[in-house]
Amino acid sequence: EALQSDDFDPVGGGLMSGTDLPYLAIAACMDVISQTKKRLTIQLVLQNLFLFVAHHSPEELVLSVELLLGSLGPEYKTVKFGLGGASVANMVCQVCSVTRQVLRNSYKDDGDLGDVAARFKSSQGLLGKPKPLMARNVHEKLVMISRQEGARSVSKKQELGISLLRQARGPETKFLVRTMLQCLRIGANRTSVLQALAKAAVIHREGKRVSKERLEEAVCKFEKAYNICPSLESIVPALIEKGILPCDISVGIPIKPMLAKPSTGVEAAVDLMGEEPFIAEYKYDGQRAQMHVEEGGKITVWSRNLEQKFGFGDACEQLREALDGECSSIVLDCEIVGVERGEKAGSFRMLSFQELSSRPRAAQSQSPGGTAVCIFAFDLMFYNGTSLLDRPLRERLELLEKALPNRRDGFVMLASKTDEKVTTTRDALMASIEAGCEGVMLKQLSKCYEAGRRSDFWIKLKKDYCSDLQDSLDLVPIGAWYGNGRKAGWFSPFLCAVYDREQEEFQSLCRVMSGFSDEFYTTTTAFFKDGHVIPNKPAYYQTLESPSVWFDPVVVWEVRGANITVSPVHQAAAGRVHDSRGLALRFPRFVRARPDKHVEEASGPDDVVTLYRAEVTTRAGDQQNGE
Ligand code: ATP
Repeated sequence: EALQSDDFDPVGGGLMSGTDLPYLAIAACMDVISQTKKRLTIQLVLQNLFLFVAHHSPEELVLSVELLLGSLGPEYKTVKFGLGGASVANMVCQVCSVTRQVLRNSYKDDGDLGDVAARFKSSQGLLGKPKPLMARNVHEKLVMISRQEGARSVSKKQELGISLLRQARGPETKFLVRTMLQCLRIGANRTSVLQALAKAAVIHREGKRVSKERLEEAVCKFEKAYNICPSLESIVPALIEKGILPCDISVGIPIKPMLAKPSTGVEAAVDLMGEEPFIAEYKYDGQRAQMHVEEGGKITVWSRNLEQKFGFGDACEQLREALDGECSSIVLDCEIVGVERGEKAGSFRMLSFQELSSRPRAAQSQSPGGTAVCIFAFDLMFYNGTSLLDRPLRERLELLEKALPNRRDGFVMLASKTDEKVTTTRDALMASIEAGCEGVMLKQLSKCYEAGRRSDFWIKLKKDYCSDLQDSLDLVPIGAWYGNGRKAGWFSPFLCAVYDREQEEFQSLCRVMSGFSDEFYTTTTAFFKDGHVIPNKPAYYQTLESPSVWFDPVVVWEVRGANITVSPVHQAAAGRVHDSRGLALRFPRFVRARPDKHVEEASGPDDVVTLYRAEVTTRAGDQQNGE
């Protein structure tokens, strides 16, 4: 109750300053959050918890945030526990003294291992009261679980997990089990947790009377700093102790990449550039990579969603050769594309993304017969000890060219671009398609690098704008039906949704049942059945559909369709185009999985509304032209 109160008083909260934080405070907070859909309540509960921790034990703030997110370590290096559903189920059986059969039966009813464990645990008689779990110990033990390697690692992991579960009380059991399964299901995303943290930090330093504007400003500044250095350990201590936010790039820690907004055609894209000078750059179809060259020469490669990529040893060597010998450290943005090199020096043909993704993951150098790659560099964020984030693109591109004097066609190249004339955009689009690219990126030359933002200064114009639907959508499968006939044994169709970042909810958009291979059906059905089927529709799923099973929101799929219509059942962008109804994608077809995207980065209701409006405008135009 205290955590939900506007008048929350962290001083009178019951704990002595400097005392360890009980894990129960975090688990109770997760319990409240998972039972409400009210965003304000969620924010208040999170904010008050962080304020409480900041007051009593500031050094525990980072670990409490991580426990609350159910994700330990910085976002670019999240700790993996390596525990499957079977291992955790085993632990629950031992701690609750039940057989696997009893557990299986209850799981069929409840569908959530955390809920099942909590129910068994609460009905257990206790010989003595277990020592309360402290947040710090929980964090430490979970990290120890992740570090177990070698022959007896499975049983060592289980011993550690069991010792935690034995001590767990009330909601702790449920959330410990879910944390170990790396699936917390509380319905609060990383953005809202971090917003609450930023607000708590400012209230902690400036008192309860801070204005709404001051809180909003604090959130903006925090997000900016976090996008440049997504490491709470680097940010939070200075913020709590001194009220300052470090905003520097650390070479070796990935920056959140700048993203583009979609457009629906050449004219629309050029309009969005306004009066500003811009370039049209080829949009290559490969893997986005942020390459960091540290002083001393170490090179690391990071994906769009901040995962370190180890399979690009050859690309790292190619970059090293292309660099200016004087250059000490750089961070550059590029697309790594699969290529087939010709016999003539510098000749090559670009390959599809699929051919690139079939490369062995851990290859340290180009394996014989493996797909060769070319780096197409398009931005430079850090150069010889200086951040370039606030410099205009024009200047960053000049420095990029200077930083790579030894580049070679087919190995390391600068992304192709046109000059700044508007009339050349259509030609650039056609030329890019002929070269095997996805389209063009329009970029304003006077603008800075907006880390972590889908920016108005970058507009993507894909070739598909001329096909049925202007842009594909990135959707999250949230449920499915059981397939019939040839598809018996597989899930089909899949209910897919957009993600509304404001409301923090998934809104259904369509049933997808085409574009999948048989192999994909088999692996995907097995994947969801292995721990991602959930018993009930969560409060943060909006749909009038009733699939046979509901899924955790865990993957993103690129889906293309014919057009967008108002729907009686789907709830995407409900109330935006029609008073009560939502929008649906007609004739959806699966294009590919997007493992490089988090579910929170899936398309949102705004994207669907934009596509709907663009279609309406095109149809109106066609009718005027008598078509
Ligand atoms: P998409 O799903 O269209 O690939 P996305 O959500 O991954 O988009 P966006 O920023 O919307 O990312 O689109 C730009 C993407 O296109 C980049 O993430 C990058 O992978 C790729 N790309 C290819 N060439 C370029 C380029 N010249 N400049 C920027 N991005 C490029």
